[in-house]
Amino acid sequence: MNGEWGEHCGLFGVYGHPESANLTYLGLYALQHRGQESAGIVSSDSQDLHSYRNMGLVSEVFTGDVLKRLPGRSSIGHVRYSTAGASDLKNSQPFTVHYARGGLAIAHNGNLTNAHMLRDELEAYGSIFQSTMDTETIIHLIARSHEHDLADRIIRALKQVEGAYCLLFLSEEEMIAVRDPHGFRPLVLGRQKNAYLVASETCAFDLIGAEFEREIEPGEMVIINEDGLHSFYPFIPVSPSHCVFEFIYFARPDSFIFGRNVYGVRRELGVQLGREHPAEADIVIPTPDSGFSAAIGYGHETKIPMELGLMRNHYVGRTFIEPKQSIRHFGVKIKLNPVKELIRGKGVAVVDDSIVRATTSRKIMKMIRKAGAEQIHVRISSPPITHPCFFGIDTPMRSELIASSHSIEEINRYITSDTLGYLSLEGLKRCVGEDNGSFCYACFSGGYPIKFPPRMGEAQLQLFEER
Ligand code: AMP
Repeated sequence: MNGEWGEHCGLFGVYGHPESANLTYLGLYALQHRGQESAGIVSSDSQDLHSYRNMGLVSEVFTGDVLKRLPGRSSIGHVRYSTAGASDLKNSQPFTVHYARGGLAIAHNGNLTNAHMLRDELEAYGSIFQSTMDTETIIHLIARSHEHDLADRIIRALKQVEGAYCLLFLSEEEMIAVRDPHGFRPLVLGRQKNAYLVASETCAFDLIGAEFEREIEPGEMVIINEDGLHSFYPFIPVSPSHCVFEFIYFARPDSFIFGRNVYGVRRELGVQLGREHPAEADIVIPTPDSGFSAAIGYGHETKIPMELGLMRNHYVGRTFIEPKQSIRHFGVKIKLNPVKELIRGKGVAVVDDSIVRATTSRKIMKMIRKAGAEQIHVRISSPPITHPCFFGIDTPMRSELIASSHSIEEINRYITSDTLGYLSLEGLKRCVGEDNGSFCYACFSGGYPIKFPPRMGEAQLQLFEER
């Protein structure tokens, strides 16, 4: 289930296709789950860059006419949910500028941890920022670089930047993709005939019938131009810290990222959860849609039949207007409705992927209780979230994360369930195969893989908005 906060961002890029903007539009469609606030595409016809971005869903932002105004054989696109910078059109991406060497567009998924420091320095030297996005810092660093070609300018800029970034750059002549050395966020490379494609997740390739070639490696820079594709590793290598929350919640189950299919991992989390926290229940109910994959695994392991006890209305838009007077407090009811006949008189195990603030979970449990459940056993396929993310996932401040200040028993009482069981950190590590790759578990452990400067911490995410 989607709480009141949102996701981060999705990237898609095409080089060498006559309908590059159309393909990008479709790719963004498949990545809509990564951000619903704004969408944008920038195309290059070799002479100029053409850009369109607006607030809203991909289907709302782009029309046939808009796409016609984005000509050329290469395009990059972005869907956004703000992780740094206010929710505003000026903060939507791709961000396009014209600097001494021509046009340049940038699309970013992630979150820079030293952006505020760099911005202070740049402003002290006279830079004028147009947005409150951390991403704009990179543009200023590129524009100030004395290197001759764009790739070297980007490398020089990124050597000053810390944090999480998957980036797509588009100039009149080339498309450049970069993944930060920790590899926090996923980035994949594909082919469609002679065209090269880059996306946050493979589900974007499936939609347009493209071939998935490989993942772009942590610390890799891929330059695609008239001469084909060139790969470089310009940064000092570090051990990877893939975001484990991509597996738990963010990425689409049909995607292949970090060397695994997301659904397979999520199902395994459910199996492990069943081993750690079986329940005396008649049925397993997933919280739609985020709990589906884990609930299947949980039901399989515990041999408790899974039933669709909660129905989701998929057509609730962002612009839903709640009546002020007559019927108040729709809450989650506008999105979810229990199947009362199924639930009445039963012991139910409700499976979800995570608890963040616990506000949604509390409403759901009250709803299930009202539908007549005898007993409610909540099972969560990730450990308690105790720390905010500074690497591109939009989790609230620490004080708002219920598990940062409450015990499992207190959370159980708050959400009004009879029992509550979270997957253990060890169990999570076993499921994601910690031995063959390294993951970032900071939201569960506080062990951040990048050390923050003293001014950082919780203030970081707000800094740009306060200006
Ligand atoms: P709550 O009960 O209010 O903590 O909300 C929990 C629900 O929010 C779970 O169903 C999660 O799938 C979902 N969720 C977790 N992280 C996020 C996020 N960053 N953005 C939106 N929804 C999330």
